Amino acid sequence: MQRDEDGQVVISCDFCGTDWDQCLSMIEGHRGSVLCLDCLKQALDQARPGDEPFTGTLCLSDKPAGTRMWRHPGPKPSSGLNPGAPLCWDCIRLAAKGFHKDPEVDFRWDSSKYPAQVKV
Ligand SMILES: [Zn+2]
Ligand SMILES: [Zn+2]
Repeated sequence: MQRDEDGQVVISCDFCGTDWDQCLSMIEGHRGSVLCLDCLKQALDQARPGDEPFTGTLCLSDKPAGTRMWRHPGPKPSSGLNPGAPLCWDCIRLAAKGFHKDPEVDFRWDSSKYPAQVKV
């Protein structure tokens, strides 16, 4: 997400609330939402089926209960931050692919280890 600070646009991760410092790798979703690499790594390992329907923060798609998703366990308070913003599995995989393809990002993933959503 973005906010104005003394006339400067500050970009921060929608999930952990960390401000972007130009070094951190981030991926953009809809409406200026942003996911950082640290959150992505956690999400890949910790995503679980959600108990309730939710709207994905990056894709703005409505997802049914049981969709694999992730929330940051303890985001930094930041203006405009929605603590516990849900990240859906589709976006986790898309973001992983995006980071994987970026030669400047030190991240490689094995897509066979993280299969697409399995219908339950
Ligand atoms: Zn983050
Ligand atoms: Zn999504």
